[in-house]
Formats: sequence, C-alpha cells, structure tokens
Amino acid sequence: MRYLCYLDPQSGQAVYGWAEGGKAGPIDGLLLGPHRRLPASLPVDSLRLRAPIAPSKIVCVARNYAAHAREQQASVPEVPMLFLKPPSSLLASGEEIELPPQSEQIEHEAELAVVIGRRARWISPDQARDYIFGYTAANDVTARDLQQRDGQWTRAKGFDTFCPLGPWIETELDPADLRILCRVNGQVRQLASTQDMIFSVPNLLAYISSIMSLYPGDVILTGTPAGVGRLQVGDQVEIEVQGIGVLRNRVAAAVSP
Ligand code: ZN
Repeated sequence: MRYLCYLDPQSGQAVYGWAEGGKAGPIDGLLLGPHRRLPASLPVDSLRLRAPIAPSKIVCVARNYAAHAREQQASVPEVPMLFLKPPSSLLASGEEIELPPQSEQIEHEAELAVVIGRRARWISPDQARDYIFGYTAANDVTARDLQQRDGQWTRAKGFDTFCPLGPWIETELDPADLRILCRVNGQVRQLASTQDMIFSVPNLLAYISSIMSLYPGDVILTGTPAGVGRLQVGDQVEIEVQGIGVLRNRVAAAVSP
C-alpha cells in the first residue's frame, strides 16, 4: 500500500492519504495506527505533496556502500557510522532545494529511507521487519565543502530543504535488492542495488535501536551508493527507488535573510 501526505485541493489543509492506480484519497484515523481508507478519486499527479511523514528524528548512515566510501577516500566502517539530520530539513517531492550561501559544493545522495512503525529499542535483526511501517526515497543533500571543513556534519547535512523525502511510503516492499538511482537533468549519476549495502536494513535497525529508542514515524536514511555529485541552480534532481517511485526536486538559488 502507498501512503502519502498532500494538500487537499478544496481546504488547502495537509492530509494523510493513500494512493492506488494513480488516484489518491484521504484516510480516516491515524496513519501509523487504526484507520480507514476513504475513496481515492484525486489524480496523484495533480496534487501538491508534503513529506510523507513527520519524524521525531532522522537517523542517517554514512559510508554504507563500499564504492562510495572509496570515492570519498574514506575507509569502510566496522560498525555503522551514524549522524542525524534535523526534521526541519525535510522537503516534499515537487518542492525546491535551496542552495545556502555558505557553501560552494552542494551534492546529492540517493538513499533508501526506512519509516519506523512501532517504538523500537534493543530489537534483533530478525525482529526488524515488525517495526517497519514502510519505505520511501530520500536525498541526503550535503554541503561537501562544509562537511570536510567542520569535521562533524551537523551544519553540512542540516540546512533547511536538505532532506527531500518521498514521494510516498510503500509498505509492501523487500529492501534486500532494490535498484536505486539518481538522475540530474535526466542523466544518471548514481545507480546501484541496495544489496550492495555493507549493513543491511535489519542490521541497521538492530544497531540503532541498541543506542536510542526509535519512535513511530522516525526515518532512517540507509546510506548512498557511489556517484555523488554537484547540484547547481536550475537542476532537476530525481531519486528513484525500485518499487517506490521517483522523488523529484528542482534546485533553487540561495535564499538570504
Ligand atoms: Zn548520506
């Protein structure tokens, strides 16, 4: 099942809904709890989407594909290497990535994102599936120059609009071997399979939940494959994950105060 968040064309309010066969409709109840799917009659293509979930935190995994670690002249970690992006960095499919004036090297990172369905703490890899609500696509937009200059990554990864997520959540998906790609202006920049991950989705959930409670709605970005590259004003960047769809964002100029 596909779940999404969109602006209702009549009220202008953001609503959670579901989609099938190119049509979307609202749900009655809780996205991550009991709900009823109401009739789907709105063409998905005509809707203004919002990020499909509102997480309490976004936990990210660095260097989870060996070829990407190599291109960054970095070693492959022995345990998952984690960092956080703030929820204020979220962006919906169709919205614009803003290039901040502080950086001269903004790059895309195509990633599979996991959406947590139930509170998870100290779970085993075997249990992980029961704690996952679904999957979506993400772009871990990064100011590479600031990442290298700062040593720690909060600034480089944390600007507003630096976490495009969507276009929707797919609940029935096996994350073990999905094609993941990034296109910029129609040209493929990244292309890999999630089976190239060093730490699998179940192992990541077990590891992260041994550190912090994962709450319903929390999002995990599982790392990017090789081929990261620069974004410029006017670019159209697309992250596509097999079985989910295409997360599409245009790059806008820096916004100054
Ligand atoms: Zn990343």
